[in-house]
Amino acid sequence: MSADHRFGVPVVEFTAVGHTYMGPPSVEALQECDLRIEQGEFVTVVGPSGSGKSTLLNIIGLLDRSTTGTYLLDGIDTHAASESRRAALRSKRIGFVFQSFHLLAHRSAMENVELAMVYQRVPRRDRRIRAESVLRRVGLSHRLHSLPTQLSGGERQRVAIARALVARPSLLLCDEPTGNLDSRTADSVLGLLRELHTEGMTVVVITHDAHVAAQGQRTITIRDGILMEQAPRQVLS
Ligand code: ADP
Ligand code: MG
Repeated sequence: MSADHRFGVPVVEFTAVGHTYMGPPSVEALQECDLRIEQGEFVTVVGPSGSGKSTLLNIIGLLDRSTTGTYLLDGIDTHAASESRRAALRSKRIGFVFQSFHLLAHRSAMENVELAMVYQRVPRRDRRIRAESVLRRVGLSHRLHSLPTQLSGGERQRVAIARALVARPSLLLCDEPTGNLDSRTADSVLGLLRELHTEGMTVVVITHDAHVAAQGQRTITIRDGILMEQAPRQVLS
């Protein structure tokens, strides 16, 4: 780890986190590792198919509980927490962006984003204001009332990013966010993620694509369940 990583505020802190699927046959999908991601970092995780990326994402995103180790999210011990506590932490602190967008087909962009706040008990009027503001932020002020089918792939992913951001998470966790986009649209979505990073958002992008991985300020390689850190570098602008 570089010196920079010792002084920031940790968002993700793994200590000896490992994951084995019990099977049979049992698969050690993530070998015990330490990982620290700080507030405001833009980290990419790259590895081939089957290397353990989804396993890592599921653990960071509190969708799955690691079989060994401890995981602090914003300093909170998630490993020991109950399922309901983990679900509450997940909805408040983690924004997910997936390759296939996962938007509700019969809801407008606004409604898709507003619905993400229902469980946060945000009053209806504030939900509208916040949804509109975050959709504007991702460049969709002219698309507020469009249905997903009326939007391009890049626009759909922008709605999904807006939805992920609206609860003001600590961490934006993206799984192959450009996997369904052509390369020009992909670059524009990656540009948006970089902008969010420069505004202070902590962004983690998981990908099998080296070009996407190179957009990160820091890249972690995963191979056969083993995490390997590369030297930190400046973000491309
Ligand atoms: P990636 O996302 O990089 O393709 P995964 O995290 O999905 O990799 O998988 C890592 C390894 O764990 C692979 O060998 C895969 O077959 C295995 N694996 C993934 N999910 C399960 C599961 N639910 N049960 C058993 N093995 C699994
Ligand atoms: Mg995967």
